[in-house]
Amino acid sequence: MSLITRFLGDPNQKYLKTIQFLVEQTNQLEKGLVNLSNEKLKEKSLGLREKIKVENLEKNLPLAFALVREAAKRTLSQRHFDCQLQAGIALHQGKVIEMKTGEGKTLAATLPVYANALSEEGVHVITVNDYLARRDAVWMGQVYYFLGLTIGVLNHEQSFLYNPQYHKAELEKDKIRDELGSFKVVEDFLEPCSRKEAYQADIVYGTNNEYGFDYLRDNMAVSLEQKVQRGFHYAVIDEADSILIDEARTPLIISQPQVESVRDYQFFAQLAHRLQEGSDYNADRKMGSVALTEDGISRAEKSLGIENLYHPENETYLHHLRQALKAKVLFLKDEAYVVKNGEVVIVDEFTGRLMPGRRYSEGLHQAIEAKEGVEVNPRSRTLATITFQNYFRMYKKLGGMTGTALSAAEEFDKVYRLDTKVIPTHEPMVRKDWPDKIFLDEESKFKAVVKQIKEFYELGRPVLVGTTSIEKNEYLGKLLDREGLPHQILNAKHNEEEGQIIAQAGRLKRLTIATNMAGRGVNIILGGNPPQQEEKENIIKLEGLFILGTERHEARRIDNQLRGRSGRQGEPGASQFYLSLKNELFPDARNIIQWFGGEKIEALLSRFNFPKDEPIANKFVSRAIEAAQGKIEGINFDLRKRLLDYDDVMNKQRQVVYRKRDEIIALTQKEKGEDLKKMISKIFEEEIRKIVSFHTPSRDPQEWNLEEVFEQFKTILLVQDDVHLQLKKIIQASQLEVSREEIIQYLTKLVGEDLRQKEEKYGRQKWLDLLKMILLRLLDDLWSQHLSTMDYLRESVGLRAYAQRDPLVEYQDEGYRMFQEFMLKWKSSAVRTILKVQLK
Ligand code: ADP
Ligand code: MG
Repeated sequence: MSLITRFLGDPNQKYLKTIQFLVEQTNQLEKGLVNLSNEKLKEKSLGLREKIKVENLEKNLPLAFALVREAAKRTLSQRHFDCQLQAGIALHQGKVIEMKTGEGKTLAATLPVYANALSEEGVHVITVNDYLARRDAVWMGQVYYFLGLTIGVLNHEQSFLYNPQYHKAELEKDKIRDELGSFKVVEDFLEPCSRKEAYQADIVYGTNNEYGFDYLRDNMAVSLEQKVQRGFHYAVIDEADSILIDEARTPLIISQPQVESVRDYQFFAQLAHRLQEGSDYNADRKMGSVALTEDGISRAEKSLGIENLYHPENETYLHHLRQALKAKVLFLKDEAYVVKNGEVVIVDEFTGRLMPGRRYSEGLHQAIEAKEGVEVNPRSRTLATITFQNYFRMYKKLGGMTGTALSAAEEFDKVYRLDTKVIPTHEPMVRKDWPDKIFLDEESKFKAVVKQIKEFYELGRPVLVGTTSIEKNEYLGKLLDREGLPHQILNAKHNEEEGQIIAQAGRLKRLTIATNMAGRGVNIILGGNPPQQEEKENIIKLEGLFILGTERHEARRIDNQLRGRSGRQGEPGASQFYLSLKNELFPDARNIIQWFGGEKIEALLSRFNFPKDEPIANKFVSRAIEAAQGKIEGINFDLRKRLLDYDDVMNKQRQVVYRKRDEIIALTQKEKGEDLKKMISKIFEEEIRKIVSFHTPSRDPQEWNLEEVFEQFKTILLVQDDVHLQLKKIIQASQLEVSREEIIQYLTKLVGEDLRQKEEKYGRQKWLDLLKMILLRLLDDLWSQHLSTMDYLRESVGLRAYAQRDPLVEYQDEGYRMFQEFMLKWKSSAVRTILKVQLK
């Protein structure tokens, strides 16, 4: 216990005390609901919705919660535990909650989701994959539907609405209680619908990717009708640490292909393949860099038939070669990415989760495609992009839940301003987390792993083995084959099927090898799913599911997620990590012990003579490993923080641009047409003022370059020659300051006349639509260009760091200036384009 907690009491306990009265109030309301008919309950729910419109939600929270609990009792035959009420309250108050695996986060979330759906236009629930979005929507949908609310589901290929027709039939048969055996029926409960219809539902389930991409696409829409989302009120994020932290390093990007030679990538992939490490290039895997040697350079020059690779005109070659080398040396198949259906799919380096649709930038993805000999998709232009941090910050309120939040509390606070609270378990946790078993090298580690697995297998005890990569999964699989040990391998490639497999990982003699994300969110129930009672008893006697970790992850949090798959709801279980100090089996793989414990471990290795086939029991070694993990956690946190600092600059700009788009779209509604024209007149006036002022800089009209003003106008407006004369007259007739104003007004009038004629010719609505399209298309196009300029700027400020300026400050200053430029350019292009519209 720390000194502070001793003085002030545990702040978490204190928090739980402050919300206890809400738990009690909810409990008290139960009596009044149990005797109501199903219809009456639904009426009460809809009545509450009306009531909340006038009163506020806070006052009615206990009633809302009590209704949900009653509905869950009648539909799922589950009654929210008090700790689930606590969780619900904390989520409602916008906290991230740590609630252990198997404690029923899915059900707990129904409380705040329902309550907030009464007062807001749509609540979003975020899941880690499409399958879980469907599963949870159907599972919890029964509760919401019972209370009169609608439920939508976003999947990558299709959106759905919860279909009440099936609801009734199934409810009578009492078939679906939870995920038990529900895998087949899930689809029957869902009715395909449009994206927009799904978002119109009171409650929407979907993955972070789907929400994020919809947001970006909505901001490329050209009319209100095309937009699908309706605001960011309240979201509950399941597995919040995966989504808000682990995935937050890869932004969402919508892009468009560019014309580029696919052959080049293939050529450079072959060239890189021929180059030898040590003689042609050197690699530093820890720093993620590869450098060509003199020899390598001349080999490349020879095969390219050029004199000097570093000459500016060969810049693209150099870039290609660098990326091809990186692809060869630093990005390994089945670790950094997998090849699935002829596509290179990135694997999240922390969680092992596949990230379809995401691509490495700057030609690296293409280089990898060329290396793998799959179809190379030419580089594309970014049309829109956002990080998850900034997407989720748009919500008025966020709640997060995960089995492992506490060790990420600092990051939740600093990045999202989210408080972390720990919810007690319903039953005390009895899982045994055994100390690490550390081996000298991997061979002896895996030998011991197999031996251990075999022992348990013979007893019948189920074992779940966690690995960090698909490659290692398969390696271990082969070792088990050799011993004749039947097993299942899960790689987070097929979420739904893997969900079914992992649901059975708690049966007798079951051996499962899985990467971290495989089967996430699906419960492992002792004795199978649905449980076979006798089998369950036997497994409990064997002390439950054994979790065997084969490597430390880059965060303690992720180690704990793995452990957390065992010992749910007070059941017995155990976990242990088998580690090795040397990494010789997978020399190129990420290995945090070797990379970040490096020198310390080296020193220990040379000082002690560790045995090869026995585990090392040495407190210095354990400490060095712990320190290595701490170090990498810190590095990763800083990286994400840094990414965010940079993205904040972009975020402000994005908001300005998206607001402008919304404004333009809103103004083209018929009744607001005058406002749009006003906005355009203003742009025109600004532009004319800019041109005139530029060519009339001094006070002396003699020095004014009216010729130029005239020329400029001739290029943008089909003016007659008498305009020139007219301009001259204005100058001769008046005094200087006045005359500049008069020129501006004269030209503005001229342009105004032109626009009026065009409007007449086209008809009002058509003209407004045309104006809108011009403004939006130009804005989108220039914005996309601006995005790449900002990308470029970001790379280059990094290089300027040596000039003792903080690159971030440089990026902010320069970025701001470039943004101003972009907006000006938009206005002047708009002016020119609108004037060029020809009367046909
Ligand atoms: P988590 O997401 O916290 O790991 P789940 O939401 O998947 O856990 O729920 C775990 C299991 O507990 C499910 O089988 C669910 O049906 C069950 N469960 C949850 N809440 C209750 C409850 N109040 N009463 C009975 N069973 C419950
Ligand atoms: Mg869950």
